Amino acid sequence: QKNRPPMAIIQPDFKFEDLGIGGLDKEFSAIFRRAFASRIFPPSIVEKLGIQHCKGILLYGPPGTGKTLMARQIGKMLNAREPIIVNGPEILNKYVGQSEENVRKLFAEAEKEYKARGDESSLHIIIFDELDAICKQRGGKNDGTGVGDSVVNQLLAKMDGVEQLNNILIIGMTNRKDMIDEALLRPGRLEVHMEISLPDQNGRVQILKIHTAKMRDNHLLAPDVDIDELASLTKNFSGAEIAGFVRSASTFAFSRHIKGGTTATVNEDVENIKICQSDFLHALEEVH
Ligand code: ATP
Repeated sequence: QKNRPPMAIIQPDFKFEDLGIGGLDKEFSAIFRRAFASRIFPPSIVEKLGIQHCKGILLYGPPGTGKTLMARQIGKMLNAREPIIVNGPEILNKYVGQSEENVRKLFAEAEKEYKARGDESSLHIIIFDELDAICKQRGGKNDGTGVGDSVVNQLLAKMDGVEQLNNILIIGMTNRKDMIDEALLRPGRLEVHMEISLPDQNGRVQILKIHTAKMRDNHLLAPDVDIDELASLTKNFSGAEIAGFVRSASTFAFSRHIKGGTTATVNEDVENIKICQSDFLHALEEVH
């Protein structure tokens, strides 16, 4: 029990709305309950309950739905250091054995940094993006080199040893949960699995509001902009696509203020730039 990680400090004034994540409130509260609730209780109570803190989370779902955003914001909420983000394919090294070494180094680095910080109450997060690239089912028909197998073994060994690596939390991300070696997804390892899917109407409204918030606050959003209609028109868009759509709409507003359309001179009235509903509709046509 003495190796049990101490409490992580959750920002006392923390509010989900401040995280800039649209449409994932339910997923966030489920992750919170399953992965972090135990960490805000006094360790004495957690010890009496005899439960272990969650060591790892798997976020899975289509590209651009906010998995990386969620992982980073979890770190912020928990007052963790800026997370280490590792890209699966980057870990794979053409020299056999080197990939395992990369995983070892990664954990050693996280441990060193967190010890150096001397703040026992903070969490250190390692995010594995494109986890499927390194954690394919062992013994399967992967790249034929067996490199993936040894990386999975190394990762399993590290995860099982997280008791010594106090306060390190692993967040794995993938578009292909079915490809991940099951051993990694068992309790005590990446045990909380959360699907992050494409946003529904309400989610798209929230995401659109987040990505137009600055325009609105600075009074650059024309009164005719109808967020509900835009949300209906962006069915099947991911959060990343909605962000791109808003950027694209603003370029149509820019072009109204450029002399001759393609010169390097902007009109004097550029301060009055407004993003209108028609800019969004043009952006939509461009997407299609
Ligand atoms: P991938 O699987 O391709 O790595 P991802 O699920 O990790 O994608 P992110 O990298 O988190 O997706 O999303 C890219 C960007 O899209 C974010 O930085 C953000 O600007 C925007 N975005 C995506 N989802 C959301 C969301 N739910 N709310 C607000 N913005 C979002």
